[in-house]
Amino acid sequence: MSNGGCTERFGFGCRGKGRDTGTVGNATDPELRPGFWEFIPLEDLNAAEWEALCDGCGKCCLLKLQDEVTDAVHYSSVFCRLFDPHLCRCGDYKHRQQRVKECVVLTPQTIAESADWMPRSCAYRLRHEGKPLPAWHHLVSGDSESIHRQGMSLRGKSIRSEARVPDSRLEEHLLDDPLAGTLR
Ligand code: SF4
Ligand code: SF4
Repeated sequence: MSNGGCTERFGFGCRGKGRDTGTVGNATDPELRPGFWEFIPLEDLNAAEWEALCDGCGKCCLLKLQDEVTDAVHYSSVFCRLFDPHLCRCGDYKHRQQRVKECVVLTPQTIAESADWMPRSCAYRLRHEGKPLPAWHHLVSGDSESIHRQGMSLRGKSIRSEARVPDSRLEEHLLDDPLAGTLR
């Protein structure tokens, strides 16, 4: 960090990578109301809709540093030890809180306090800010691969596991884009 005040790992931000079934964007799911992502407030989504809103980018599973002076959050290219870079999702979504105590589970009740440090492109952050989902989001495109083709997920990116990066060297892996909106 430019002012040298950033010293600690910030709590992992995450709510998971798409739905457990991997059927992101399945428009035939009877639990998903048509166009729910456009007009229904986050707090009124049902559980299936909340899950389906995740674009599966994986960016929230990158480690972050928080500037102790400004509180600004800065993303690194180092991913959580439980993240599966090949599947681009949590390696144990069901037990993530037991296995990674810092993992923050995002809910309609906590989005307001978490939105500021979520990736700029995160669907939950966008909807919280009253913005539309991008064209590459699976709910818009109907294709769970469109996010990867557009390069908006961690798939194919130059990233590394926290198991291979000591705490003392995390600062060397900070991204140029602090909130990982356009990670390349
Ligand atoms: S950043 Fe947001 S949309 Fe992307 S995987 Fe995390 S919770 Fe899902
Ligand atoms: S525990 Fe899973 S969901 Fe939480 S940050 Fe790690 S990989 Fe992501």
